[in-house]
Amino acid sequence: MILAPETCECPFQDPGASIASSPNCNGLLLFMALMQGFVQGRCAIADPCNRVVGVKEVDEEYDFIVVGGGAAGPIVAGRLAENDKFKVLLIEAGGPDPVASRVPSYYRNFWNNAETDWLYRTQLDNYCLSEGKKGCVWPRGKTLGGSAVLNGMMYHRGHAADFDEWTQFGAEGWSWKENLPYFYKTEDNKQIGTLVNGSYHATGGPLPIQQFRYTPEFVYDLLKGIEEVGLPVVADMNDPNTPEGFAIAQTFSDDGQRYTTARAYLKPKENLHVLLNSHVSRVLFNDTVAVGVEYITKTGERKTVQAAKEVILSAGALNSPHILLLSGVGPKETLDKFDIPVVADLPDVGQNLKNHIGMTLFFVATKEENTQSLDWAAATEYLLERTGPMTSTGITQMSGVLYSSLADRENQQPDLQFFFNGFYAECSSTGAIGEPVGDCPQKGRNITSNAVSLRPRSVGYLTLNSTNPLEPPLFFPQYFSHPDDMVMVKDGGRYVRQIMESEAIQSKYGVKLDPAYTYVCDNRVAQWSDEWLECMARWYTDPQNHQVGTAAISRVVDNDLRVYNVTGLRVIDASAIPILSTGNPQGAIMMVAERGADSIKADWSQ
Ligand SMILES: Cc1cc2nc3c(=O)[nH]c(=O)nc-3n(C[C@H](O)[C@H](O)[C@H](O)COP(=O)(O)OP(=O)(O)OC[C@H]3O[C@@H](n4cnc5c(N)ncnc54)[C@H](O)[C@@H]3O)c2cc1C
Repeated sequence: MILAPETCECPFQDPGASIASSPNCNGLLLFMALMQGFVQGRCAIADPCNRVVGVKEVDEEYDFIVVGGGAAGPIVAGRLAENDKFKVLLIEAGGPDPVASRVPSYYRNFWNNAETDWLYRTQLDNYCLSEGKKGCVWPRGKTLGGSAVLNGMMYHRGHAADFDEWTQFGAEGWSWKENLPYFYKTEDNKQIGTLVNGSYHATGGPLPIQQFRYTPEFVYDLLKGIEEVGLPVVADMNDPNTPEGFAIAQTFSDDGQRYTTARAYLKPKENLHVLLNSHVSRVLFNDTVAVGVEYITKTGERKTVQAAKEVILSAGALNSPHILLLSGVGPKETLDKFDIPVVADLPDVGQNLKNHIGMTLFFVATKEENTQSLDWAAATEYLLERTGPMTSTGITQMSGVLYSSLADRENQQPDLQFFFNGFYAECSSTGAIGEPVGDCPQKGRNITSNAVSLRPRSVGYLTLNSTNPLEPPLFFPQYFSHPDDMVMVKDGGRYVRQIMESEAIQSKYGVKLDPAYTYVCDNRVAQWSDEWLECMARWYTDPQNHQVGTAAISRVVDNDLRVYNVTGLRVIDASAIPILSTGNPQGAIMMVAERGADSIKADWSQ
């Protein structure tokens, strides 16, 4: 029966953060606590024999220390540990990979939770105005699995021209052609021949990739609406022959579960230690040679551990540059201001901060009941068969890329992406079928759509706020500082309107703009006018969570991801990516991590 926990072959430890207290479900709900227990009681989900458990004590010295267990870090650590001669330590600031995050429909349940999210906010500016004077929310994973525990799991590599632009930026050897084998190395595509073409995909890599097992009817109706208004629908967003179009995305998932790189690449192994709940405060140098790291434990103790060969920063595009600055690697001007001894004067650390930017449009499907998609029926189906609404992210599983009026079609680099949100089987207080959603002001189901610029011209930066490593840096994304970005986002908004006003969507769902959100701009200008779109973009700004570039190849690290002017230190994560790819970034970050691990292995092969 589903109520009894199964007896697995290995003891199960450390379930990680629980959904019982998810802020997304308004705190403690008995049904969510029951679901937490049921999920961790399934051997196929908890997978205790393959689950990496944190070490209690570390050794004095390792060959390699990898900082950060997000999307990139586990690939680097896992690949290095394949060589039994290497002793590897992975240090992660957060706790264990939460077992409940393996349920795809709990996609948002680990956001805004201090146990799993860094809770970052940007500095104030003329965007994200609906947040009051708090700045934009930037969710970032603080747990083994990193932001890949919080993410939508969509697998999109971007387009060939993106990577050829990297080489123009100065990243020699990082063209599409040269990167492709490393994309393939990560991939175990389960739909070759049934959905995607084997000429563009691979099997045998650690990460399972396929569509979710469940798709709400609304998605199929959206696709009908999209075709009706003359926009393209494609099978595979990664097929170079169909660079533009909407699709049900392939995702990092298998057996109805999320797969992070932490789950796929880290296996219990004697030469691989994982230290959790340990915040790396700086890299230790002997002159300009990296020899280890200092970290702060959960109880606030400062400790050190030595690296005989290399330290690798994989703490993400917001934290790797932070660690560099605290370690004396960065712009001399900034380091002097904070009295940090300069190890290497690298002016570009923390600069070149790039992120996709868009707006959120809020709608109500007036012909739909506003009920929870998570109920006992969905839960039972999931626990027994691993099918049904809990195996997916609702309508978020659909996405599309199109060209804006500024795009260069010949380059096959679409510069707009669209996301849809709603129909999540994520929360319930009783599990009753038809349970209404909280205190929603109007009848009808709430859905949103995001129109996002994939090639924003605005460039931001981050800098230190203090020398306290536990205090976040200051983030200045400078969204919309280049006028083209607003043009692209407004073009995207008009496409969303076309889709939502299609006959397929109107006749069945009666979708209307949600006045609870539009009134701010409705009171100033006419709906859907140019001014209204700009007003909505500034109020309901949608910063994507795709930050890259803060320790870019050719500016901060060389083509093998080694930090300039020091020895024994690399940055291998989104920070090294010089230019945003035109799509979701995890695919490209995994490729960078595979290449980085290969470079390290090659350097230490003798
Ligand atoms: C809500 C959301 C949705 C997204 N959806 C998608 C999607 O559908 N598809 C896609 O491709 N991408 C998506 N992304 C983006 C993708 O998840 C990130 O780009 C990717 O995870 C970044 O990888 P990373 O390894 O550079 O950093 P992260 O994955 O953020 O990992 C960094 C790790 O380092 C740890 N760390 C940081 N500082 C320290 C320190 N001082 N000491 C020790 N450890 C530290 C962090 O806790 C974290 O575990 C999404 C992201 C978010 C937040």
